[in-house]
This record gives sequence, C-alpha cells and structure tokens, in this order.
Amino acid sequence: MGFLLLEQSYDVIIVGAGPAGATLAYELAKKGIRVLLLEKERLPRYKCCAGGVTSKAAKLLDFDISEVVEDVIHKVSFTFNLGSPYLGQHSQPLIHTVMRDVFDHFLVKKAQQLGAMLIDGQKITQVQVDGDWVEVSTADRIFRSPLVVGADGANSAVARELGIGRDIRYLVAIESEIVVPDEELAKWKTRIQIDLGCIPGGYAWVFPKRDHLSIGVGCLSSKTRHLKHYHQKFLNSLNIGNYAITRSGSHLIPTCTKGRLVWQNRALLLGDAAGLADPLTGEGIYNAILSAQLAAPVIEDSLVRGKVGLQDYQEIVERKIMSELRMARTLSKFFVRFPHLAFGMLNQSDGVWTALRNLMLGETGYAAIKREVGGFKGIFLRLLRI
Ligand SMILES: Cc1cc2nc3c(=O)[nH]c(=O)nc-3n(C[C@H](O)[C@H](O)[C@H](O)COP(=O)(O)OP(=O)(O)OC[C@H]3O[C@@H](n4cnc5c(N)ncnc54)[C@H](O)[C@@H]3O)c2cc1C
Repeated sequence: MGFLLLEQSYDVIIVGAGPAGATLAYELAKKGIRVLLLEKERLPRYKCCAGGVTSKAAKLLDFDISEVVEDVIHKVSFTFNLGSPYLGQHSQPLIHTVMRDVFDHFLVKKAQQLGAMLIDGQKITQVQVDGDWVEVSTADRIFRSPLVVGADGANSAVARELGIGRDIRYLVAIESEIVVPDEELAKWKTRIQIDLGCIPGGYAWVFPKRDHLSIGVGCLSSKTRHLKHYHQKFLNSLNIGNYAITRSGSHLIPTCTKGRLVWQNRALLLGDAAGLADPLTGEGIYNAILSAQLAAPVIEDSLVRGKVGLQDYQEIVERKIMSELRMARTLSKFFVRFPHLAFGMLNQSDGVWTALRNLMLGETGYAAIKREVGGFKGIFLRLLRI
C-alpha cells in the first residue's frame, strides 16, 4: 500500500452521492458550509432502482427536475396475479420516472454549483473519531472534518465502522432494464403497473422509461428464495421475457425498526444508511431527500454553536419519518399476508385509490389515513365487508 495522505479539512464530510448525500451537500453548500462529498463510484453511476420519484419527493426539491425525467406518470394499473386491472388515474403527475445515474448526478451537480466539493472513485474503508475530529480513510487517502455523514446506502460503511443502528430489516428487490419494440413501449406511456400476488410477500412492477421498461419484483428478505424465478415468471406473463435485457441487478432496501439510532457523537446517517425506506412500498428516494433536509439545520446549528448537538436529528427523524414508517410497516404486515384482500379493498372502494394517490402527491401520510379510517379497527371492519 502507498503512503496515506492527510487531506485538507472540511466542515462536513458526506459519504455517498445518492439522493441523500447529494441533497445534504446542496443544502449545506447553500448555507456556505464547506462540504466534501465522497463517492466510491465514478459519476454518473448506475443504480439498481425502478426510478420512481413520487410527486411528494419531487416537491421537496427547490428546483425543477423535468430535464432528467423519463416519463410522467398519471395512471397506475393494479392487478392481482395479472388478472383484470384496477386503473387509478389523476390529472396531476403522480410519479416522475428517472434513470438513477442521470438523476443522482443531476442532484450532485446542483450541489457542486453551490460550491460543494465532490471526489468520486473514493471508497471509504475506515471511519474513526479522534477527539474533535473524524478521520475518513480510503485506500490511499485520509480526510478529516468535525462531522461525518453516512449517506452510503444499504450497506453503509459509516454505520458499520461507527457501530450505529444495527437493528434493521430488509426488503430485497431484483430489477431489469428491458428494451422493447416501440409499439410495446407506447402502451406504457404515462402508466405504471403494480401486481400483487405474483410473488409471495411482495409485489412486481413495470415502470416506463424514455426508451425501455424497468421491470422488477421485490419482497421481504425472509421470502427471497425464488426471487429470480418470480421475476422471470412475471416477465413471461407480460410477454416480455424474450426481449433484450440491458441491465439486471438486485439490491437490499433497508427499513428501520422502532427507536433505531441514526446519530452518534460527530456522525449522522441519512436515507438508506439510516434504514429509512418505506416498508410497504419500498420507496426510498423521498426519505433520503427528506432526511437530508432535516439534517442540514441540525448540522448548521452544531457547527455555529461550536459544539456537537446532533441528537436533535434523532428526535426530528423519529417524529417526521419513523412514526410514518411504523404505520407503513403495520400495513405491510397485512399486505404481505393477505394480498388478495388488499387488492379486494382497492377494487371495492375508490377511497383506497384516493388515499394511495394522495400519498404519492404528499397530500396525506400514513398516520392521517389511519385516523381517517378509524384506526386499525376501521380497516378490519372494511375487510369484513369484503
Ligand atoms: C430494485 C429497487 C427498486 C427501487 N425502486 C425505487 C423507486 O422506484 N422509488 C424510490 O423512491 N425508491 C426505490 N428504491 C429504493 C431507493 O433506490 C433507495 O431507497 C435510495 O437510492 C436511497 O438513497 P440514498 O441516497 O440513501 O442511497 P443510495 O442511492 O444507495 O446512494 C448511496 C451512495 O453511496 C455510495 N457508497 C456506498 N458505499 C460507499 C463507500 N464505502 N464509500 C463511498 N461511497 C459509498 C454508493 O455508490 C451510492 O452512490 C428501489 C430500490 C431497489 C433495490
């Protein structure tokens, strides 16, 4: 190994340039804070993801993302085992589909324009707190700053190195980018499909992109034994099994359990590194961006006051994100065990679609829905009616 070089110091080092890290770099640079963003891949980098940016996620950003949007979704067709669909639609955009290499790089460039420093191709291997400093090491460099932020995804090296928040549950998803003829692609424009029942403990999806379809299946990590088989079965059922797959991959989607720690002296975790993906839908981009926006004022405050006070971040993440995730987890338990009833509820009452639509638009949350339907007792009574 060559000699280790100690780099100039920054106010904050952010590890990982996905939506969480890029958004935090943007928010901190806006406040004039000296930010270093370290990313293990060279950007732009492919990320295995359906690339569905819900309207509620897009609305969090204070700039327009349309230049990196592949398709704007107004219709969601829900099926059970690819039977007759329930079609939900809305005049306003529900989801913007993106390719994550382009979208994530776009967010990083926004941060760079405000002065954030990016060094890509730098895999973090070690993080050590040393008095008032944190030292972050790659194979041949050491960076240091008063604070470090782990935005390095599901297998967070920062979380592992500092031993923060180990209790986590995972969903697992597999996805392929599939080039189909123009006539097939045209059928999907402005519409996604969600199929329940075709995979135990999860769901399958089709998300249209500008020149191909992103098709995948995801489920609880305890039920992944035949994930590949279900993926292929889903492609065959859609009559898409024979087209060219340009990329295929699988990845973990981490969802946290109650009371999970997302901070430590001189360190915070964001997005997937903190386990903040939605356990019901697998959506992670929204909470990646939101957690970054919640962290920014806490970090600013900590730097201005000259003392570390990062515990406020735990409190605000619990209140704004984890309480919602708890509700989503309870719903997901029902959905995993009784997908046919979940589909039956949707088919029976447009109220369910309205709730889902409003969730995508950010006009409601899980806790508000629970209140509206009269708690879990209300859901149970509705089920009895089916
Ligand atoms: C198949 C699949 C489909 C999905 N579909 C959707 C969807 O449609 N909509 C949605 O909202 N969410 C979706 N998700 C979830 C979503 O992809 C994640 O929740 C989201 O990417 C989290 O963002 P993040 O910034 O926290 O982490 P990431 O996007 O994972 O970014 C982490 C970054 O850290 C870098 N990194 C990792 N380790 C190191 C290291 N040691 N040193 C330096 N850098 C490092 C990585 O290279 C990466 O760039 C899906 C996930 C999967 C697996």
